[in-house]
Amino acid sequence: SITARAIIYSSYGEPIDEIKCHSYNINLNELNENQVVVQSLATPINPSDINQIQGVYPSRPSISIDSLPNLLKPSSVSGNEGLFKVIAIGSNVKNLKINDWCIPLNVNYGTWCTHKLSNENELIKINENLSINQAATIAVNPSSAYQMLTYYEKLNPDDWFVQNGANSQVGRAAIQIAKSRGINSINVVRNRDNIDELKKDLYSIGATKVITDEENESKEFSKEIKSWLNGKEIKLGLNCVGGPSATGLIRKLGNSGTLLTYGGMSMKPVTVPTGLLIFKNLNIKGFWITGNIKSIPNSRIDTINEVTKLIESGVLTEQKYNETELNLDSLTDDQLLEAFINALKNSKSGKQIIKF
Ligand code: NDP
Repeated sequence: SITARAIIYSSYGEPIDEIKCHSYNINLNELNENQVVVQSLATPINPSDINQIQGVYPSRPSISIDSLPNLLKPSSVSGNEGLFKVIAIGSNVKNLKINDWCIPLNVNYGTWCTHKLSNENELIKINENLSINQAATIAVNPSSAYQMLTYYEKLNPDDWFVQNGANSQVGRAAIQIAKSRGINSINVVRNRDNIDELKKDLYSIGATKVITDEENESKEFSKEIKSWLNGKEIKLGLNCVGGPSATGLIRKLGNSGTLLTYGGMSMKPVTVPTGLLIFKNLNIKGFWITGNIKSIPNSRIDTINEVTKLIESGVLTEQKYNETELNLDSLTDDQLLEAFINALKNSKSGKQIIKF
């Protein structure tokens, strides 16, 4: 048997106060015929993981005494995304073999753990020629960028889209996917001392234009933007910020253009100027990749297959991660908990990923 450890919570609140480490044994020789045991290779900290523990995210795992063996209180295991390696299989497992890489088929899998007893049908096999970081983060950020650029507006080569939060993992993936299709992007970022460095970085991955929030919100600057478009209208806006930044995107959309709101990093509401809504017939919509799993059948698997191809062909390159490496051979409960608490504390300064 092996010792499995998982990061759990029993009540909703601030993640660093709520999470605990729970350890229990998994007997590798006592699997049902369709069961597999997987070992974690890497799991990221995403904003939605934090919102789940806060209790403010609409899709949440149940807090139950049956979540794991030997729990003292009803609990949930944190984490929705991660890469695992198969280390044991039941007698009738068909689609996975030992050492295969896999990711959860669904959300709420509880990925912040070292090992997990699972059914084969809860997992999707993943190509082992991706990097560990790319495979561990394939299902949320690049998949969201792919769906937002594919499912809502038909964007042809030379068309334009505009996005804020352009330096986020979703935004960077959107830049790369658009570039590979010949689609132009206007990318809004927060101003900073070293803005030229960030601009250079985003241009190097394929951004057409990079502008600051101030330029996005300026009426004067809109003339400059018009000159870039060469008579074309912007068909799509991607908003993960809200507030004046979102309104700036809305003002740039052409007739019958679509604004997809997928996040609210500034915590401010999206305000749509009434005249634009009426006279430009804008589509103001939400985007939720988890909602699409239900409303667009097969979207999860189809998207992961498409994003895998984009990674393999070099369109999507490895993003920046702040990695914490843990050694499973000597890991203690306290070390695992500390690693997640530190990653949560640092989650505002870049994407955190825990690796085993
Ligand atoms: P990252 O951690 O990679 O990036 C966060 C981004 O948000 C950074 O670019 C940062 O800007 C920006 N940001 C942080 N605080 C603020 C603020 N107060 N005002 C404006 N911008 C801010 O995030 P992800 O790519 O993982 O996620 C980005 C957003 O997308 C989140 O809101 C997340 O919840 C959402 N999301 C939604 C999905 C859905 O299905 N709806 C799916 C995936 C993600 P800077 O570069 O200047 O630091």
